[in-house]
Amino acid sequence: MIDRFLELARLDALSGNERSVADYLLDFARTRGLSHREDDAGRENSSSAGNVLITYGDGGKTLFMSHMDTARSTKRLKPVLHEDRITSDGQTVLGVDNRVGITALLSALDVIVSQGLQCPGFTLVFTICEESSLAGSNFLSVPDSITQAYAFDSSYRPGTYICQAPGAKTFDVEVIGKASHSGIAPEAGINALQIAARAIAELPLGRVDQESTMNIGPFSSTAATNVIPPRVKFTGEMRSSTIAKVEALDLFLQKHLSKMLDGTGATFIYDSAWDFHPYTIETDAPLRLRLENAITAIGLKPVGLHSFGGSDVNVLNGKGVPAINLGVGAQNPHSNDEFILFEDLINATKIALELMRNAN
Ligand SMILES: [Zn+2]
Repeated sequence: MIDRFLELARLDALSGNERSVADYLLDFARTRGLSHREDDAGRENSSSAGNVLITYGDGGKTLFMSHMDTARSTKRLKPVLHEDRITSDGQTVLGVDNRVGITALLSALDVIVSQGLQCPGFTLVFTICEESSLAGSNFLSVPDSITQAYAFDSSYRPGTYICQAPGAKTFDVEVIGKASHSGIAPEAGINALQIAARAIAELPLGRVDQESTMNIGPFSSTAATNVIPPRVKFTGEMRSSTIAKVEALDLFLQKHLSKMLDGTGATFIYDSAWDFHPYTIETDAPLRLRLENAITAIGLKPVGLHSFGGSDVNVLNGKGVPAINLGVGAQNPHSNDEFILFEDLINATKIALELMRNAN
């Protein structure tokens, strides 16, 4: 299992460049006589690979997911094996997000195939671009037989899982003022930059309430230093636990801009779109009960948590396939301090095996 993780971790595959991992997975399936295919998501998204699907038996009704891309490069990875964990040498990420998930799924599948265990059918999918745009899961056409999905992609330790995650909308705003020479005729201009900055300064950014956040990232003005800025653009996102709450924030922002620009002579163009939809998996949902049984069966305590992140799981839930994100112990994700405990690698694999054996 450790060897497999290290092989996978060393494959450099940033979002859009997942070819090496896809080939590894296709080879894994081929050498074990498992039916496999690569879909068109890569072509649709100009990535070097598509999503890889491996089916066991008839493909069944349960989907197991993890993603092939990493948010940062593992090209110069020098893994260090400690007594209880694996880390990098501190100069790169280790690639725990999401090579731990891939390792757990392949290792469980390997146990089933090599020991000839009796199992219902199930399907594995390894997505592209989870860290960038969720394009892999967005372009994924989920097989008709699939009614539930488990993603092995949360940084929590095995036993903990995500049963609620927010939805997010991104917004693009352009504030339009009027250009004029800033030295000769500043009175004739309308300063779009200053007006936009004032409007942003009055916004409740960060954690808006217990369930909601709002952020603005890029902000740009292209005017020269001697021109009153006629146009600025900024882009941000808003997240909350329900569709209605995200829509309310969207409306709030538009009203706020109208109010702040009123009487300034400036106008604005506003556009927003869904990035991913929120989801909640209720306590009595069959896939949640099945997961809790699997966690209990391997001697751990199931803990369902709410998250503030978006993942492939949001997309699957948005497509009408109930899905849960499981902790695999991929700790400190995206930092040079990423690590995985041997114990967690084993437990994540055990949970995968338990779920696969009871995938009906
Ligand atoms: Zn991930």
